[in-house]
Amino acid sequence: MTTIGKTMQDAMNEQINKEFFSSYLYLSMAAYFEDKNLTGFAHWMHLQADEEREHAMKFYNFILDAGGHVQLKAIDAPATEWKSNLEVAEQVAEHEAKVTASIHDLYELALKERDYAAQVMLQWFITEQVEEEKNAAELLAKLRLIEERGTAVLMLDHRLAKRGGEEGEDAE
Ligand code: MG
Repeated sequence: MTTIGKTMQDAMNEQINKEFFSSYLYLSMAAYFEDKNLTGFAHWMHLQADEEREHAMKFYNFILDAGGHVQLKAIDAPATEWKSNLEVAEQVAEHEAKVTASIHDLYELALKERDYAAQVMLQWFITEQVEEEKNAAELLAKLRLIEERGTAVLMLDHRLAKRGGEEGEDAE
């Protein structure tokens, strides 16, 4: 049995931290929307937060299955206030772009280390990030379009409330 190399193990432990931070960030955004009674937006953020925890656990399980050691680190505090719905969406898009870059760095490392198991595992994340960035871009584009017009925000809130739990598909 091949075991995970120390460099890959350390990098994946860092990624666990990043995924938990993502989960924290989306949870904080969910609370922001709950405060504004935008329950559809909050629902979307809650599902997003749950997904990020699942991402962290994929790395957690991979490290353990590959005979490595999981090392959980302190999670940074996310922002708690935003100026507008649009600012939240902008931060989501920026954040997902950063996550994509870190997944690509991990993949580069897996190629360099000739860690074939990690390469296969990371391919799932590469595909997932295409979806994450698409969802973020869509939310951002819609918010830019409607600006802060109340009726349009409520219509979008209603739409976001229908997001299902699986792969970000709509439940309708
Ligand atoms: Mg993630």
